[in-house]
Amino acid sequence: MPSADFDAVIIGGGTGGYVAAIRASQLGLKTALVEQGKLGGVCLHLGCIPTKALLESSELLAKVRDRGPEFGVTAKQVGFDYGRIADRRDGVVNQLWKGVQGLMKKNRIEVIEGRGTLAGKGAVMVGSTRLRARNVVLATGSRPRGLPGIEFDGKAVVNSDHATTARDLPESIAIIGAGAIGVEFASFYHQMGAKVTLLEALDRLVPLEDEDVSKEMARSFQKAGIDVRTGVRVKGAKKARGGVSVQLDDGEVFAQQLLVAIGRQANSEDLGLEKAGVEVDQRGFVKVDEWMRTSADGVWAIGDLAGGYLLAHAAAHEGITAVEDMAGKRVAPMHQELVTRCTYSHPQISSVGLTEAQARAAGHEVKAGRFPFVANGRALIHGEPGGFAKVVADAATGEVLGTHVIGVEATELIAEPALAQLFGGDAWEIGRNIHPHPTLSEAIGEAALAADGVAIHI
Ligand code: NAD
Repeated sequence: MPSADFDAVIIGGGTGGYVAAIRASQLGLKTALVEQGKLGGVCLHLGCIPTKALLESSELLAKVRDRGPEFGVTAKQVGFDYGRIADRRDGVVNQLWKGVQGLMKKNRIEVIEGRGTLAGKGAVMVGSTRLRARNVVLATGSRPRGLPGIEFDGKAVVNSDHATTARDLPESIAIIGAGAIGVEFASFYHQMGAKVTLLEALDRLVPLEDEDVSKEMARSFQKAGIDVRTGVRVKGAKKARGGVSVQLDDGEVFAQQLLVAIGRQANSEDLGLEKAGVEVDQRGFVKVDEWMRTSADGVWAIGDLAGGYLLAHAAAHEGITAVEDMAGKRVAPMHQELVTRCTYSHPQISSVGLTEAQARAAGHEVKAGRFPFVANGRALIHGEPGGFAKVVADAATGEVLGTHVIGVEATELIAEPALAQLFGGDAWEIGRNIHPHPTLSEAIGEAALAADGVAIHI
């Protein structure tokens, strides 16, 4: 049986795993990356990248089709060819995929194809190959969760894996779940011209976001013509002629396709965790400490597998944290509260830190500043006056506790307040930062000033 010795074996080559591998190699560790599918994982092949590529096409279509004349742009016939939209999506994915493969070579990382499992202390099995691993990082990710009694067939009943790789579009769609996946796909299908019904169990859209953001999202979706239903209980779904009928407590919704977007579950089964002494929680996520250490010596877990925010950039950061710890080069532990969150729906949402309600619940006396995009020149130039930036700070110390943005290009605006929070910054410091004009970033500065009642343009 062939065998090889490594300082670090990383199981799973998604964003978390491949970034961990690069950092491990930079730190001088002899590193292997075990991947059963494609390097880049869910983010690159079934998540972040294909969805944003699709949304770029639908945004462009909707802007020219629905708003061209307002901008003085005329076109005789604005339509789309979904095959070419899908080709472009796949082209972006493939270009980045080649890039990741190149990075593995450049960093002298041994990529081993196959399914890796823990095989006792210091060992990983890949097929019949036994790797000797001084340390192991588990980075096997997650998959879409289903609803009991509603089976995915990839046609009438789909999840995000199907939707990101489809080569055709439904004319109408019902979406269960109004988290990040639900609202992104609601925006996409709506912009493509499909009839969209969005079904959320809780009493508001994007329930993890600040309540003001949820309200603005509902207002914007309703205005656009998306059928938004909150507080619904889905009892079941059955195939019907030409589509799916979704049973609710108070009636039913019919659509050509049903997208289930109710969260994800960890890929923690059949990895040899129990035998290796790696504990998982009740939901199947691997338990870790702030350095991403599991309950087993020499085993770390990162990314979706380890719970927290199931986001690619969180996974990458966790990977760096884990291997720096492994190499004895600790910089800073993982702080979940500093993870930026971005949703690429229309309108976009971004946030970092605590919501206003969470800040109050944590015992802070809060001062919050809000600045609407309607008072921002760049937003008006974009033709997108909806939404706002909101900065939540401690009233006594001024320390920034959270920032929430909904509106045009919100996702590009969150890195600045996140850095301020990393540095323990105060709201007035963000306000004092000289924001270029005319940019959307001015809304962040103004919201910070608004926390002290001294915004300039409202
Ligand atoms: P989610 O947990 O963010 O949202 C799921 C939503 O479904 C929740 O609002 C929940 O209340 C609702 N729900 C659950 N059961 C339901 C039911 N039976 N009926 C109606 N509603 C129900 O999960 P998601 O949107 O599937 O995304 C999965 C993960 O992937 C999340 O952690 C998300 O952050 C991440 N993700 C992030 C992005 C992004 O950052 N842009 C994009 C996609 C996914």
